[in-house]
Amino acid sequence: MASSRVDLDGKPIKPITICMIGAGGFIGSHLCEKLMTETPHSVLALDVYNDKIKHLLEPDTNPWHGRINFHRLNIKHDSRLEGLIKMADLTINLAAICTPADYNTRPLDTIYSNFIDALPVVKYCSENNKRLIHFSTCEVYGKTIGCFLPKDSPLRKDPKYYVLKEDESPCIFGSIEKQRWSYACAKQLIERLIYAEGAENGLEFTIVRPFNWIGPRMDFIPGVDGPSEGVPRVLACFSNNLLRREPLKLVDGGQSQRTFIYIKDAIEAVLLMIENPARANGHIFNVGNPNNEVTVRQLGEMMTQVKGLSFIYSKLFLAFFSMFFGVYLRLLFPYLCLQVYSKVSGEAPLEKATIDVSSKEFYGEGYDDSDKRIPDMTIINRQLGWNPKTSLWDLLESTLTYQHRTYAEAIKKVIAKPLAS
Ligand code: NAD
Ligand code: UDP
Repeated sequence: MASSRVDLDGKPIKPITICMIGAGGFIGSHLCEKLMTETPHSVLALDVYNDKIKHLLEPDTNPWHGRINFHRLNIKHDSRLEGLIKMADLTINLAAICTPADYNTRPLDTIYSNFIDALPVVKYCSENNKRLIHFSTCEVYGKTIGCFLPKDSPLRKDPKYYVLKEDESPCIFGSIEKQRWSYACAKQLIERLIYAEGAENGLEFTIVRPFNWIGPRMDFIPGVDGPSEGVPRVLACFSNNLLRREPLKLVDGGQSQRTFIYIKDAIEAVLLMIENPARANGHIFNVGNPNNEVTVRQLGEMMTQVKGLSFIYSKLFLAFFSMFFGVYLRLLFPYLCLQVYSKVSGEAPLEKATIDVSSKEFYGEGYDDSDKRIPDMTIINRQLGWNPKTSLWDLLESTLTYQHRTYAEAIKKVIAKPLAS
């Protein structure tokens, strides 16, 4: 495997050691899996938790045994950090508090985690001449210019006013009392610091701006593998609602728009960055799928309602036969429809699929939102020749299959508990 692999310029790829901070999280677990199964590289995996990478660490019979070593540590206060960075050729920093429910309710923890705790990582990389791939966020763009235009302005349809471009778009956040922006602002400042270390001290860096990466192992299901009152990101919130057969909650009407990318597509991009330093160093990369844009309402509808043509056929079928069977068929309609979660779980669709909640009720005071997030792909195309592949339907199907397989039984037990006691 090691000898036959070449980079984008046809040069052989040498095995390296990677110090991955936050390796036990959602992205880290997929990146470790990819590195173990498809490359000869070694990983020093640093995190407070390792549940999501347990399958890679045990058993000793894994073909990659010895290439991945877990170090349980908190980078806030652990003197081993510099030594581990020195042992590696490359450091990848994924560690962060990165769930929106925390940004306005735990703004201090959010700012410390995303800025202060990342400082020593940048410093040790710079002082020891080690390459750094740092995970930032698409949230550094904040709101689009277009959202400040009058509602009926034709310019709102002009991509110049909403497509987000690494080297051109401004970063537009709300006022200070809108604490939602504590995360984006901390991420922006650490980006600026890394950029300055590159410019003034020659740090070799790459900054990644993920645009809503989703897939298996994302976040947690409240009350099963996370706190009952916890609020994860939207995929896990909606999965939790579906598993419990509750309506999906649409915050402020679910009007915000997002582009979702399948984690496995995104990991391909990160691997290209790891193995093509000459093309990736000094760059900031958007990593997203501009073709998978939906409003949050549409996302909820895709999960709970009918898929594309099946919807139209079902409607035609209903219109034709209801002339004869009237109201009976109308009652049957939900069961004739195909929706992602019903398809993967074999359960009937929800009677009431969604409900609206205000952001104040859902997230508390100080929440605000990004209106629209479409990544410009020019730079990543040019430097790494990378493009995402997976459609929204396909990524939802495989992710919800995983969610159902992993959590359906556990949820039944959680729901049954209060009745039994
Ligand atoms: P995650 O929460 O699943 O993973 C983060 C990991 O970092 C966790 O395992 C956590 O235990 C660890 N960590 C946090 N603080 C630590 C500390 N002090 N010491 C040691 N470990 C610590 O999140 P993720 O989705 O995998 O995101 C990884 C990175 O990508 C983050 O920097 C995040 O801001 C960024 N990001 C992700 C997305 C996305 O779509 N998933 C979007 C934008 C940005
Ligand atoms: N959201 C929602 N219902 C939920 C969870 C989230 O309507 O149960 C919305 C949230 O307000 C935001 C979008 O879904 O507009 C995406 O939220 P996520 O937590 O995934 O993170 P973000 O993309 O905002 O960083």
